[in-house]
Amino acid sequence: MARPLVADIDLDALRHNYCLARELAPHSQALAVIKADAYGHGSVACAAALESLPAGVRPPAFAVASIEEAEALREGHIEAPIVLLEGIFEAGELARVEALGLWLAVHSEWQVNALLAHRPARPIPVWLKVDSGMHRLGFTPEEVTDVWKRLTESPECVTAVQLMSHFATADAVDDGYFRQQLACMRELAQRLDVPLCLANSPATLAWPEAHGAWVRPGVMLYGSDPLEVASDATRRLKPVMTLRSEIIAMRDLNIGEAVGYAGRWRAPRPSRIAVVACGYGDGYDRHAVDGTPVLVAGQPASLAGKVSMDMLTVDVTDIAEAGIGTEVVLWGEASNGRVLSVDTVARHCDTISYTLLTGVLPRVPRRYL
Ligand code: PLP
Repeated sequence: MARPLVADIDLDALRHNYCLARELAPHSQALAVIKADAYGHGSVACAAALESLPAGVRPPAFAVASIEEAEALREGHIEAPIVLLEGIFEAGELARVEALGLWLAVHSEWQVNALLAHRPARPIPVWLKVDSGMHRLGFTPEEVTDVWKRLTESPECVTAVQLMSHFATADAVDDGYFRQQLACMRELAQRLDVPLCLANSPATLAWPEAHGAWVRPGVMLYGSDPLEVASDATRRLKPVMTLRSEIIAMRDLNIGEAVGYAGRWRAPRPSRIAVVACGYGDGYDRHAVDGTPVLVAGQPASLAGKVSMDMLTVDVTDIAEAGIGTEVVLWGEASNGRVLSVDTVARHCDTISYTLLTGVLPRVPRRYL
């Protein structure tokens, strides 16, 4: 028998979450962010699943971080437009951008110069990136007008110029900084009369005023709730990835006996410990604390002891059914329908769902449902 660890990917749930994004932003086009191999879910399979939605409902475009990610999609026969969210990394990539029919974010002077010097056979759609407060990539609001003029005055090189920006705090309850960024972008869009693309998942879910011509959700498509406080909309998200394993060994411990490296967890009572085939060598976070939830036979149980490379240990003292071969869900949906959200697990690892999902390593087979 193969090692019983698999990442099940529920493509219906992906389609459901994408349709929820569209429903929440009915006046916007919803681009699907599938960078980082669709947040660890497999970009070609996810893009194909979304492209299988009916015309008019399927994503009008996808977004990735690099030309290699776009190439993988084209090799997988994904035909929709693909936006390179960080644009090119060197001028030599422009020929590939053209050949693959990509759309380009531009965030730096050298990218604009390279684009205008390149003289493509057909003009390239461009998303002009503004730094409205993230202070990472993009032109300052003061620089934007000049750059926009240079681009729009070269219609042989550039077409469909629109403005994009990224929010630093759209997930937070305190909306002060978010509103500052939004006001900055609205003012620019009005002055230049250009469409806007601003909203990541939290803004798609919680801030209709930020929707603009396009929304750009990522993590919500995979069923994770990025908001500090859950909402009616986030409660409708369905988990896409279920990280599923089994118990491969059982141990009975006396009071005070320890489990695993450094003996971090000690039995507070006579205890049954299940050894599960999943470890940090699979991408499960080693920072998971004792008490991190898992589902054993669809029932809540908790991590006991440090995560090892190939296995982890769970206190199953109160789960009568637990035995070798019993299903263990590290996050996602158990066979009995009970859900353990990746966001809950992330909180116990002092991280965010994004790192857990993108961190599932290649040795874990993806199984598409
Ligand atoms: N847009 C840009 C530029 C991003 O970098 C990201 C993700 O990092 C997204 C959109 C999607 O964000 P989220 O996954 O929070 O929806």
